[in-house]
Amino acid sequence: MSVRVAVIPGDGVGPEVVEATLPVLRAALDRQGESLEITELDWGGERFLREGAAMPADAAEVARAHDAVLFGAVGRPDVPDDELVWGLIIGLRQQLDLAVNIRPVRAFAGVPTRVRGTDGVDLVIVRENTEGEYTGAGGLVHAGTGDDLAVEVAVHSRRVIERAAEHACRLAEQRTGRLALVTKSNAMRHGYPLWDRVVREVAERHPEVELETVLVDAMAARMIQAPRSLDVLLASNLFGDILSDLAAVLAGGMGMAPSANILPGGDVPGVYEPVHGSAPDIAGRGLANPTACLLSGALLLEDLGHDKAADLVREAVATTLADPHHHTPDLGGRASTTDLAAAVLRQVTDQMETR
Ligand code: ATP
Repeated sequence: MSVRVAVIPGDGVGPEVVEATLPVLRAALDRQGESLEITELDWGGERFLREGAAMPADAAEVARAHDAVLFGAVGRPDVPDDELVWGLIIGLRQQLDLAVNIRPVRAFAGVPTRVRGTDGVDLVIVRENTEGEYTGAGGLVHAGTGDDLAVEVAVHSRRVIERAAEHACRLAEQRTGRLALVTKSNAMRHGYPLWDRVVREVAERHPEVELETVLVDAMAARMIQAPRSLDVLLASNLFGDILSDLAAVLAGGMGMAPSANILPGGDVPGVYEPVHGSAPDIAGRGLANPTACLLSGALLLEDLGHDKAADLVREAVATTLADPHHHTPDLGGRASTTDLAAAVLRQVTDQMETR
């Protein structure tokens, strides 16, 4: 059988990290008697400059013709950020109704971090992915008069909170049972109190789940001071976005954090992507750490039921990162993107031979 993946390398470091990842996924699948079938898509900033749109009008259909989508990054300095973010990744998440963004963060032995006490960190952020502050609802009035007034409306609906909470509870059940809901219900009087109520109701249907509610500001401090006290976090679109960059730092930086955009139980392909963006400051120089993309690939394999192949990739990444010779500059090393990727590929091949 073959796994059909639509690949969007995108902009900046996107193509570099995706190119580093594909051979590893192919090798891991190969050992399970599976093959990887790729459709490369030119969606992103260059397409926007050429054709006026970062992706085609039938993008969701194209994605649906595949088992999954692997996405590098989008963003380039000569195109307004919102054109590309809305025109591609947020657009795709909304068109496919990808309810949650799963962002696991794990400390790897041998990888230095700027935060003390992160050894053993192993948490997952479940970020609501379709509403909150990122629906685009709102508008600008009196534009250009000097009295410009912008309204940005946050949208929180019971149905959407409920499905994110249901997934977070199931994930917590598979892990330690601990779930922390992140809100700001002391200052925001409508949306987050609704989150509190709905998530409490959902958690009551999962007696093994121990729910606590933490305000987002307190959570930011706790993630730095006591990160090992956390397991599964459930957060709105905005809070999940911010906290996952913070969480990435616990694991060694932006190059380390993978993610999966999925509709749990739905018949749509997931979109798998590193949490980091296009990083134009280091693009094209072989400096990007491909770990986030490699681990996103492992999530893709796991969600498609190829658990052994996914484990193979994760073990290969862990073994490789344990040796500082393979570290890219963001981790304090001197290895290039391709050096690190080649070492991971060797590990996958070696592990396969010793099994
Ligand atoms: P975008 O607007 O596309 O999000 P950005 O540069 O504002 O791009 P990120 O791409 O998330 O935001 O990067 C923030 C910083 O983290 C970058 O400037 C870069 O130095 C670092 N970084 C991001 N990804 C990586 C990576 N894969 N390897 C090493 N460093 C990275």
